[in-house]
Amino acid sequence: MAVEKPQWRELFREVVTSGLCTGCAACVIACPHPVLDYEADQGIYKPFHLELDGGPDDCTHGQKGCTMCTRACPRFRNWESEIDLQRFARERTDDEVWGVGDVLLARASDESLVDNGQDGGFVSALLIYALEHDIIDAALVSGLEGDGSTWRATPVVVRTKEDILATAKSRYTYCANLLAYNEAVEGGAERIGLVGMGCMASAPGAMQARKAGKVARRLSLTIGLLCSKTFDDSIFEELFEAKYNIKRADITKMNIKGVFQLWTKDGGYYEVPLKEAHAYTREGCTHCPDFAAEHADLSTGGIGAFGDWTLVIVRTDLGRELLSAMKSEGLIETRPGDDDPGAVALLHKLARVSRKRWPESAAPGPGRLPVTSG
Ligand SMILES: Cc1cc2nc3c(=O)[nH]c(=O)nc-3n(C[C@H](O)[C@H](O)[C@H](O)COP(=O)(O)OP(=O)(O)OC[C@H]3O[C@@H](n4cnc5c(N)ncnc54)[C@H](O)[C@@H]3O)c2cc1C
Ligand code: SF4
Ligand code: SF4
Repeated sequence: MAVEKPQWRELFREVVTSGLCTGCAACVIACPHPVLDYEADQGIYKPFHLELDGGPDDCTHGQKGCTMCTRACPRFRNWESEIDLQRFARERTDDEVWGVGDVLLARASDESLVDNGQDGGFVSALLIYALEHDIIDAALVSGLEGDGSTWRATPVVVRTKEDILATAKSRYTYCANLLAYNEAVEGGAERIGLVGMGCMASAPGAMQARKAGKVARRLSLTIGLLCSKTFDDSIFEELFEAKYNIKRADITKMNIKGVFQLWTKDGGYYEVPLKEAHAYTREGCTHCPDFAAEHADLSTGGIGAFGDWTLVIVRTDLGRELLSAMKSEGLIETRPGDDDPGAVALLHKLARVSRKRWPESAAPGPGRLPVTSG
């Protein structure tokens, strides 16, 4: 019996057009031929196959045996178990609803990183440490285009502390950070860090589990961001400006802590109820089951009672080594997750809510876990 070699044709049918595609762009950067591109305009955030070599729904390289795009895709078939096995050498238990790992709270010891960051500035401190200690050559993060006044997020390669400071904080529109991969490689990077929400943070594990070649090897550190959803760009004009008279160019920072919090240049502070924002949920997020960036080396979030601390889930040996080294060098302060039982309970609750979004008709994986109780 011939061995199946799933290619773009299967990816297109089973993920891209079925609603499972998050727009992470892993397939685009893994493809070894110039036939995949990415639509980031008008809120689409999807890969597409160019007209040449097979048209939109097939690929002549795939017909000849290339399977790279399906190997890279962190939503293709039984992705969760495959990546769990690759990352943790076991399938997760039903209790591990937010994945494998230990929770703690952390913040950068350098107050300027905390002030400049979204929560505790932990991600910035970790990126600086990894770059300055020769653990990675570059990292793929999200910046803002131009002077930042459009709030349009764009994939960026960071190589220095200055780059990291300039790209800190959170944007709540989508940004496929993986798309900065080629620029990092062209700049000579062989060990590349990735910052991303769960959809992107599962990509390195998918590539490594399915042996997707050099890309899999190069993506050597993954820092996850907890995430329930991202929003369409239209939220700025249609909600923030139309209802609250807040112009996008005036916004200096935004956060989500039960409500959408917005800070403006004139010192203003606004709260927008999340229920008003739900209508602007990006389509690619609607079936995403991963709140906690379950396959990252370390996942980070802002839930909890302590402002200016980052909730961290340390998941892999690499994650534990980095955390311990930063702590012993005095670069971060930590406190146990038990200090904030409410945050851990909320993590559990939000992870469960996200898991309910994985369709029963899709391949087994997240749906295996009980999602109705607790
Ligand atoms: C879209 C989104 C949704 C989130 N939702 C939640 C949530 O529901 N609950 C929760 O607890 N935490 C959530 N977070 C995580 C939280 O906002 C912080 O990013 C996290 O706590 C780390 O804070 P920090 O101060 O350590 O990071 P910082 O030091 O400020 O670094 C933040 C890093 O995130 C990158 N980044 C910013 N925006 C994006 C983006 N749109 N796409 C990809 N990378 C980006 C930056 O480039 C930077 O590398 C979300 C983050 C994002 C981007
Ligand atoms: S989920 Fe990511 S890798 Fe999979 S098809 Fe969509 S963009 Fe490509
Ligand atoms: S909810 Fe977050 S992690 Fe899931 S697809 Fe949307 S952006 Fe990605």
